[in-house]
Amino acid sequence: MTSATPLRTAVIGVGYLGNFHAQKYHGLDGAELVAVVDTNPDRAAELANAYNCQALTDYRTLPGLVDAVSIVTPSNTHFEIGRFCLEAGLHCLVEKPVTETVVEAEYLVALAAERGLILQVGHLERFNPVVRALQTHLDTPEWIEAYRLTPYRGRGIEVDVVLDLMIHDLDILLSLVDADVCSIEASGTRAVTERIDIAKARIAFANGCVAELSASRASPRPVRRTQVKQKSGYVSINYQDHKVLVGGTGGSDATGRALQASLDVINLSKVDVLLEEVRDFIRAVTAGSPPRVSGADGLKALELAIAVSHAIDEAGVMAEGSAG
Ligand code: NAD
Repeated sequence: MTSATPLRTAVIGVGYLGNFHAQKYHGLDGAELVAVVDTNPDRAAELANAYNCQALTDYRTLPGLVDAVSIVTPSNTHFEIGRFCLEAGLHCLVEKPVTETVVEAEYLVALAAERGLILQVGHLERFNPVVRALQTHLDTPEWIEAYRLTPYRGRGIEVDVVLDLMIHDLDILLSLVDADVCSIEASGTRAVTERIDIAKARIAFANGCVAELSASRASPRPVRRTQVKQKSGYVSINYQDHKVLVGGTGGSDATGRALQASLDVINLSKVDVLLEEVRDFIRAVTAGSPPRVSGADGLKALELAIAVSHAIDEAGVMAEGSAG
């Protein structure tokens, strides 16, 4: 594919998030949004009208019409739709979680590799400037804390909060720590749905780094921040105000007197992370080079998320409301 030919694209599933995927393809020079696909014909027609493209209700009619798709349907349909699209030779950007099971994700990763197709997973926080700043200021992480708490929105509830929200921080964690996971402790409770809505996990790595993650979709207010303690001090990022704090420990002088700690406050501008993610997908397909978040990355995040969910099951679900 040459960079002069716009990539023919479609979005499968144009509910809340799929609408924004369609908006990005519609607005980008390197892509042509050919169709939106939704089993709800009214929704497909509404968005086709908004983005001046075809409305389809069956993704199986896409082969021959497009080169690449975003799959933005409920998570329990990602495997079936992803397998069909890859078998039909279409590059895929699959929303997170990539699939519901590790076996399904492994199948899609192997299928994409065998067919020479791009499989990208929608871990969009990797495109967030605060996460990129965190990665830039990292030396040897020793302690990582992450909070991702949101009020209940009624979306993503076909999976538990670990696969819905914590998986973002698990993916970031795996991109920060270059060591194997050696133990997982976790607890969780239901609050608003039939599945775990509030979860906490403590993950220890073979190099001694420990991470504590909290996720909730039943929080009175949104909180999204991560802090890393490392040899040289700490780095703290806040996704809400786009602030990065980089602190030096200061240490002590020869007499043991504490030295002044340093603190740099970096204010970053808000970036359209979904636009960056879709742009990266188009770049990867057009250039034939790996995307920033590959299918293998989505698989690793899923594996860890499922291990956390199992650890919660093994610990026994806590009584409602007692996990904080
Ligand atoms: P949604 O329920 O708002 O939209 C899903 C749409 O898919 C609906 O319009 C539905 O009619 C359609 N659909 C269902 N089955 C279909 C099929 N077989 N073929 C075509 N269309 C079908 O859901 P949402 O909140 O937009 O979430 C969709 C996906 O995006 C989920 O996997 C979710 O985890 C993910 N998501 C990711 C993020 C993120 O931060 N990366 C944020 C929100 C949602």
